[in-house]
Amino acid sequence: MTITVVRAARVLDVASGVMREGAGVAVREGSIVAVGPDLDGDTTLDLGDVSLLPGFFDVHVHLTGLRSYDEGRMPDRETLAVRAAKDCERLLAAGFTTVRDCGSAIALTLRPLVADGTIPGPRIFAAGPAICQTGGHADTHHLPLEEVRRQPDTLIADGPWECRQAVRQAVRAGADFIKICTTGGVGSERDHPQDAHFTPEEIAAICDEAHRLGRRVASHAQGTAGVKAAVLAGVDSIEHGYYLDEECVAAMRERGIFYVPTFALKTFFERTTDGGHGLPEWRVRKQREVVGAMSASLKLARQAGLTIATGSDYYGPPMRGHGDNADEPIAMVRDGMPAADALRALTLNGATVLGIEDQVGSVEPGKRADLVAVDGDPLRDIEALRRVRFVMQDGKVRVNSH
Ligand SMILES: [Zn+2]
Repeated sequence: MTITVVRAARVLDVASGVMREGAGVAVREGSIVAVGPDLDGDTTLDLGDVSLLPGFFDVHVHLTGLRSYDEGRMPDRETLAVRAAKDCERLLAAGFTTVRDCGSAIALTLRPLVADGTIPGPRIFAAGPAICQTGGHADTHHLPLEEVRRQPDTLIADGPWECRQAVRQAVRAGADFIKICTTGGVGSERDHPQDAHFTPEEIAAICDEAHRLGRRVASHAQGTAGVKAAVLAGVDSIEHGYYLDEECVAAMRERGIFYVPTFALKTFFERTTDGGHGLPEWRVRKQREVVGAMSASLKLARQAGLTIATGSDYYGPPMRGHGDNADEPIAMVRDGMPAADALRALTLNGATVLGIEDQVGSVEPGKRADLVAVDGDPLRDIEALRRVRFVMQDGKVRVNSH
């Protein structure tokens, strides 16, 4: 069994947030067997003056193949799937070795194709269809309801038993976890981020059913009331959480609920707030409303010590392009988060949200060899995350341009 030693000027100990000088990582059969100076192996990859980090996580993506908010005539599903496969390649080239897809049937198709090496891409954890109430965030409000019911990306459910059935259908379709919507959203036409969706009984039914089937529940929840209802009913993560208050973060802390703030959207909202860019008027209006609240929520979450993970909510270029997903930790640092915390959100915390922190998420013996080398030191200059020179996934070199 051959041992490959990957050497770099710096290796990040992500748990402590300390950069170790002049270390190497020994890899055998896809796993890290040793970390430290003076390691011996059959082959050595000396990457030189770079920082070696654990593989990156984006725990809120949508692999949809969409390219704008308004494509006119919707492309056929084959076209969307090929585009989404291209997005997988871009994600991996940008250092993202694992993603969690929060709603897309195409992600279920791509998952085994990445796993068996047919296409390059991050390891995919997929929700498959997102579950919402009639007129909820995952519903397409201007289409006839029957047409939405035929779409594979959404399950509409009303009442606890339909909610249980929807969970069973998502699991039947191959869901690794369950994505629900307990508020309206910026991106859905005829609701509002502050609207609470699903009754407490419905959310509790979803969580009970999902947990009995061994799946975690991620809730799209923007307004305070819908966050609280989701937290109290037993979800495992809050996605977006634009309007958190003290009570929300205290309850999340107490229950160990993860927070995925999708903070890159703040920059996106600011950039597109003057309209144009093909965005409908109602979306721009809601973007303006929520953007002011986002920093305060992230600050509350940080102060409460919640486990925060990076999730860009990107779906495709040019607006929210896969490959630019480092926008998320960079936006967090610009907003005041220490770089060491943002790097933990990007790696170990992402693994924790997925429940695979014993296998990936840090550069430690016993873990899978997912390694990313960047030019510069991201603890001092977070923009270094954009300068990916080398990517190893499961011990295989995927990118090497150093
Ligand atoms: Zn999303």
